Amino acid sequence: MGGIVVPGESSRVSASIPVGAPGKHQGYLTVPHSRNDSAWGSIQIPITSIANGEGPTLLFTGGSHGDEYEGQIALLKAARWLQPEMIQGRVILLPSLNHPAVLSASRLSPIDGLNMNRAFPGRRSGTPTEMIAHYVYHQLLPLADVVVDLHSGGKTLEFVPSVIMHDLPDRELHAKTLAALQAFGAPAAAILTELDSEGMLDTAVESLGKIFISTELGGAGMTTATTVRIAEQGVRNLLTHFGVLRDDEVASSQPGLTLHTPEAGCFLVSHDAGILEMLVELGDRVVPGQPVCQIHHFQEHDREPAVYEATASGILWCRHVPGLIGRGDCMAVIACDYEL
Ligand code: CA
Repeated sequence: MGGIVVPGESSRVSASIPVGAPGKHQGYLTVPHSRNDSAWGSIQIPITSIANGEGPTLLFTGGSHGDEYEGQIALLKAARWLQPEMIQGRVILLPSLNHPAVLSASRLSPIDGLNMNRAFPGRRSGTPTEMIAHYVYHQLLPLADVVVDLHSGGKTLEFVPSVIMHDLPDRELHAKTLAALQAFGAPAAAILTELDSEGMLDTAVESLGKIFISTELGGAGMTTATTVRIAEQGVRNLLTHFGVLRDDEVASSQPGLTLHTPEAGCFLVSHDAGILEMLVELGDRVVPGQPVCQIHHFQEHDREPAVYEATASGILWCRHVPGLIGRGDCMAVIACDYEL
């Protein structure tokens, strides 16, 4: 990003509810989308806004990638159970931020092929994904003190359920974000260095000096009872941590593991195409030189599989799914212990 875009521009996306106004409001964001099968058509993205009294504003998003479900489920539930009288402050919930991608159960929008989490700060007169990003950046981020974007691995990755932040140059913001990370209560907390961070909601929010929390909860294009429970409890824990919710049921537990990905070598990228065989399980400890996975060249019986070794000491934090893998795919991520 070349410099910070100042938020506040008017947007072509409109809300059917007074977002952030006192009370509970549920409706839609309307994104204009004229097309061959709908001349004056639009995309409607469900939104819930709950506000009461003085307090911080938390913006929660899920479904930024359409094939990631823990965040969508936890936020759909929150949209039902959260009531104004329970809170002090404001909660804005967008469980299916990239609604077209959610409808097609795909990572990217089927309309413009864009990755919601690489489209920030968006474009007013861009494609649907860019218009959604533009609305979030210019109309919602000015309201928000804290942004929580709930991700999972999607159809092609699976993670040790983790709450995520980045290493932030602003050390005060870093400390506040780390405290929220620990309050979330996921089995692991990770301080991530991205392979490619341009256009992320994360980067956009952090650049504005606001607290940004993300997650990687499970994956493989599905949920488990455990990963949904972690997402739901994490949402409650963050609302409580920031003083928005008075919760007697808070079950905040410190993460069992605090991890980071300090070097590019933490990301194992495939140079082969074939059938992926993992040699260690998610969460297993590995040391440099230890075989992590191998790729079978199933069209060449006389060829040995390509073995990939760990280049860092840590745990297998993320793996590729499903069985077939291509060249250039992320096979695995080794996350190292982080000294707090
Ligand atoms: Ca994701």
